[in-house]
This record gives sequence, structure tokens and C-alpha cells, in this order.
Amino acid sequence: MARVGSHAGKARSGKRPSRAQERERLLARAAEVTVDERYDVAVIGGGAAGLAAAISSAEAGAKTLVLESAPECGRSILATGNGRCNFSTVELGAERFNDPEFVGQAFGDDPLGDILNFFRDSNMRWALEDGRLYPLSRRAASVRNVLLHRAREAGATLAPARPVTSVERDGKSFSLAFEQLFDEGRKTRTRAGRVVVATGGGTAEALGPLGLEVTETRKVLCPIACEDSPLAALDGCRAQVRAQLSHGMFPCWSERGEVLFRSYGLSGIVIFNMSREVLAGDLVAIDLVPDVNASELRQMIDPLMHGDFEDGCVDGVVDPKIASVLGSLARSGWQGPSAEDPTDESASERLIGLLKGLPFRTLGTTDASSAQVTRGGLKNDQFDATTLEALRIPGLFACGETLDVDGACGGYNLSWAWKSGMVAGSAAAQA
Ligand SMILES: Cc1cc2nc3c(=O)[nH]c(=O)nc-3n(C[C@H](O)[C@H](O)[C@H](O)COP(=O)(O)OP(=O)(O)OC[C@H]3O[C@@H](n4cnc5c(N)ncnc54)[C@H](O)[C@@H]3O)c2cc1C
Repeated sequence: MARVGSHAGKARSGKRPSRAQERERLLARAAEVTVDERYDVAVIGGGAAGLAAAISSAEAGAKTLVLESAPECGRSILATGNGRCNFSTVELGAERFNDPEFVGQAFGDDPLGDILNFFRDSNMRWALEDGRLYPLSRRAASVRNVLLHRAREAGATLAPARPVTSVERDGKSFSLAFEQLFDEGRKTRTRAGRVVVATGGGTAEALGPLGLEVTETRKVLCPIACEDSPLAALDGCRAQVRAQLSHGMFPCWSERGEVLFRSYGLSGIVIFNMSREVLAGDLVAIDLVPDVNASELRQMIDPLMHGDFEDGCVDGVVDPKIASVLGSLARSGWQGPSAEDPTDESASERLIGLLKGLPFRTLGTTDASSAQVTRGGLKNDQFDATTLEALRIPGLFACGETLDVDGACGGYNLSWAWKSGMVAGSAAAQA
């Protein structure tokens, strides 16, 4: 009682509760949830995929439990899309994922239609920005809240603050051990006829005792670190570009989109997508003016072929700050990280070269904490792609990022979480 009183006092004085107080409040609420001895379906992980699975399972009539390690369910959704949650994309297609065949089978005929119906039925409406779908409120909390509400309405038991520590086959059902964070981590157990694993990226090892194979994991959808170069002077500049990646001499990937230049390398949506392919030592070429060809640029820069150019000559087609940095580099003779010997190219030709293919040598992806998605996880070929049930362990299902599925930036990964959650949840309820 004393603690409740002190929180009320904080609220009256207008101060927000501290993190510790907020955690204490959530743990107290989690302690009020009773976990029964047995369920039809237990979902491990109450993130995006787990909540979609729980809703589908409970609405299909199965007694459903969600065991979540964090003090509240759906927390991972809040950070998505910079707090706005880019929950899907009108361009949704299996070809934008690392395993298109597996994803395509799980997606079925109309994954976008299924996802939009799911959110429409959850009383959410959405807005479109450049093909990306956001909740109408532009708040990720809207997405999280409609899912929590719908899961509870469907009768699912949401049990946060309970990290699952082991899952074991026990006759025809499963025995799940979990800790109770509100009770000094005291361990307890429950049983379920079917289990849906929805623990997110990089967590698949926790299922080790069940003998499922896990592919190597690495973080993707993150900035790319590059060798130190004078281009660090572009730090903070953004541009709409075509970015191309080459392993050795061979171009292997290219895409148009926004790049954000950083002192350590490159960021922005197009670079996040490139991070799914990049290796240390690759070459990135950024075409800063993809809609203007080299001869048009030549007309702007040096129509009489004098070999030099006037300052500001390309300010009409690129950010003047970028133009100024590249102009200085072109005059200094700099041609990129690979150019060992200076060539006798004129300054104006060097400027054209930099504008059409600004070169960076990669060191690899940046630190894991800045990544949005984990590549790797439970090996997909161990699962029936149409139900997401493990082939060798009937009754065990997996969905979301815990499988070896990752997609492009821009709503693809959450789309996979929702749709794979729906598939696994309804199949588990019916199994
Ligand atoms: C900063 C950021 C921004 C992003 N923005 C977008 C975006 O705008 N659009 C998009 O499409 N994708 C986005 N993503 C990717 C997207 O969030 C993930 O692909 C998606 O959340 C994966 O869903 P999931 O349910 O598989 O995993 P998660 O959402 O991570 O959920 C897994 C849950 O399992 C719980 N858990 C883990 N282990 C256990 C255990 N042992 N016992 C019980 N519970 C456990 C975790 O606490 C977590 O709640 C973003 C990712 C990040 C990090």
C-alpha cells in the first residue's frame, strides 16, 4: 500500500514515475495473472508474432497462454518505425525475403489482404506513406494496444514477466518451465498440448533440448561502417540515390532510396537493405544523381571541356553541401579508396565520376545494437511452410524472427511476424 501511495504522490506532483517504479508497477500487475496447469496452446514470446499467434489460436477456440519474459507484452512493437510502427507495405512479396520459397508458401495468396483484414478486425485504421503502412495515429502504441485488447477479448491469458527456460516433450504434450520475475525468479511449470515459439531474433538456441537445428545468426538492417576517407565530411547529409554494392569486381546488388552519410560510413533505408548483403572489403558506389546521365552533367559542369568547373555548377541537382565537398575533392585529385595512382583525368571529369559513383570501401555492418533484425534462427526446412509446424516434433510451431527469415526494411519484417503468427496460431489451435 505504501508503494501505491508514493506513486500517486508522484503523479500529483506531475513527475513521471522512474523506470524502476514503472517496472515495479508492471511486475505487480503481472503477478495478478494466474497461469493454469494446462493449456491447449502455449505461445512463448508476446511480441509481434506471438500476439498474432495468440489471437488466432484463441479465436479458433483453443485455451491459449502467452508467456513473455519482459514485464509487459508487446513492448518490442513500441520501438518500431521510430515509434510510428511501419507495420506493413503495399509492395509485400516473398521475393523481398532471404528465403522466398518458404515465405511464399507461408504467405499464401494474399498476405497483405490477410494482414489488413486482421488489423481492420482489430479496429485499427492505417495511412500510406510512399507505399509503407502506418497506423492512422502514427503511434506504435496504437498497434500494440489493439493487439493486447483483441488477445484478451479472445480469452488468451497474457502472462508477462515469465521468461521460459525450457520446453520438453512430455508424452503427447509439452512441459514448459518458466521463471516468475515478480517472485524473485522462482521457477514453475505449465503444460500445453501445442507450443508456438515466437521468441524473436537470436533466441532459437533456447530450444536446444528439443533438438532443432539453428543456422548461424548475424544482425542485419543496420548502418554500414566504411574505411576512413575524406567523405566523412559529408556527415549528416541525406540524398536520394542509387546505391550499388560490389563483391570484388562484380556488382551484386543495387537499389534506389535515401542514404544518410555518417562520419563512420553510411546509413539510411537503402543502406539498411544493403546490410543484408554486405561483406567487409566490398565496394559501395553511390550515384547521387540517378536521373541525370553523365553527358547531361558534363553540359552543366564543363560544356566547353576546359577541364575545370565553377563552384555551384551542380547545386541545382545535388545538395549544395555535398556538391561543395565533392568539388574540393575533385580538385584535390581524390578518386576514392581504391585509386592508388592519380590519373590524368581533368577535375571536371573527376567531379562527374564522384557524382555518378561516390566510392566507399566497407568494413562491415556496425554494432549489433543498431540493427533491426537478426538473420538466421531455426532452420526453415525443419518446418512445414504452410502450417509452421516442426516436421519432426508434431505440436511444436514457430513464427516470426525466431525462424531463419529476414526481409527488407520498410514493413516487411513486421508483415512476416503478423502473417507467420496467424498461420502458426491457427494451425496450433486446430492440430
Ligand atoms: C528499432 C527497431 C525498429 C524496427 N522497425 C520496424 C518497422 O518499422 N517495420 C518492420 O516491419 N519491422 C521493424 N523492425 C523489425 C521488427 O520489429 C521485428 O522483425 C519483429 O518485431 C519480429 O517479431 P517477433 O515477434 O518475431 O519478435 P519480437 O517482436 O522481438 O518478440 C519476441 C518476444 O519474445 C520475448 N521472449 C524472448 N525470449 C523469451 C523467453 N525465453 N520466454 C518468454 N519470452 C521471450 C521477447 O521479450 C519479445 O517480447 C524493427 C526492429 C527494431 C529493433
